[in-house]
Amino acid sequence: MIKTDILIIGAGPTGLFAVFEAGLLKMKCHLIDALPQPGGQCTELYPKKPIYDIPGFPEILAGDLTKNLLEQCKQFEPGFTLGERADTIEKQEDGTFIVTTNKGTQHQAPIVAIAGGLGSFEPRKPLIPNISYFEDKGVEYFIKDPEIYRNKRVVISGGGDSALDWSIFLSDIASEVTLIHRRNEFRGALDSVDKVQELKNSGKINLVTPAEVINIVGDHKVEAVVVSQALNIEKEFEIECDHFIPLFGLSPKLGPIAKWGLEIEKNAIVVNNALDYQTNIPGIFAIGDVNTYPGKLKLILCGFHEATLMCQAAYQIINPGKRYVLKYTTVSGVDGFDGTRK
Ligand code: FAD
Repeated sequence: MIKTDILIIGAGPTGLFAVFEAGLLKMKCHLIDALPQPGGQCTELYPKKPIYDIPGFPEILAGDLTKNLLEQCKQFEPGFTLGERADTIEKQEDGTFIVTTNKGTQHQAPIVAIAGGLGSFEPRKPLIPNISYFEDKGVEYFIKDPEIYRNKRVVISGGGDSALDWSIFLSDIASEVTLIHRRNEFRGALDSVDKVQELKNSGKINLVTPAEVINIVGDHKVEAVVVSQALNIEKEFEIECDHFIPLFGLSPKLGPIAKWGLEIEKNAIVVNNALDYQTNIPGIFAIGDVNTYPGKLKLILCGFHEATLMCQAAYQIINPGKRYVLKYTTVSGVDGFDGTRK
């Protein structure tokens, strides 16, 4: 059981900034994210796109903003459960909540802050009848640790940047990389398409197009994939491999959180914005893109503001009766900030 003061669901920019604000008030945070890395939409959807409306930064790449947020909150030593989706929540008799992920990891906290953005990003799965049987048995939809593919035979399918970039990256690690795409043209960056073509010419990547994987073969783990050539349905063949990685992008879903008894409006969680961004369930807050209230704007800086007010309210719940005088980090310094209420 992982115990913390504030359990944050979602490690996007809002969740990461909440760690910093909570840290100033001496509250510990643990974050759960369905993605294998922090950063939310900034990392997953547009890491190389410049953002122009972060106060104090005339321009910053979304990926660099994530790096900076991680650097800023590092001093408060947040815990992370990554690559797992928060599935269920149960209120305990002592008022705390237990949140369990789809992998069974349990977390306990008196405060839950949902910073789930557009929802958890679920992989788009190809329509292969036996694919779910092979999940975690050689079929992976995310690459968490490229080292597990060292000296292995890998088949990747997809036509976007992820499929191209990982094929290029793994060509130096895996013993064999095959990239399968149902069209001859790729959707990814031209530079990556050229690189894949070069690696094909030098024999470091097998390129199979237009084609798709239609079945998986193996007893208890992936041993081969069955491929159908798109132009010739009659022509099916097997490619022996240890891993099959379909990379068809991610689609966001509010998912299990929608069943937690929270008031939901237009796929977002209704909060009390006049006060503290608490939901209809006391102790559960919703901040950032995931919430809704009159005048709501889905912007990063709005998420930062909401996270700040949420932390102040969380402090009151965790430390009932303690008075607090707001100090500026520039006056006391982050390290010297004692966080006490006077
Ligand atoms: P998100 O970034 O969506 O992060 C939420 C995280 O929660 C995700 O990582 C998700 O996996 C996780 N999660 C959700 N449910 C669960 C669950 N049940 N279990 C575990 N994890 C879960 N905003 C600006 O201010 N300026 C811009 O210039 C700008 N440009 C943009 C450009 C594009 C292309 C896009 C798509 C968005 C842009 N935005 C911009 C919007 C901005 O990215 C969002 O406002 C911001 O990411 C919201 O942050 P968040 O932390 O609330 O949510």
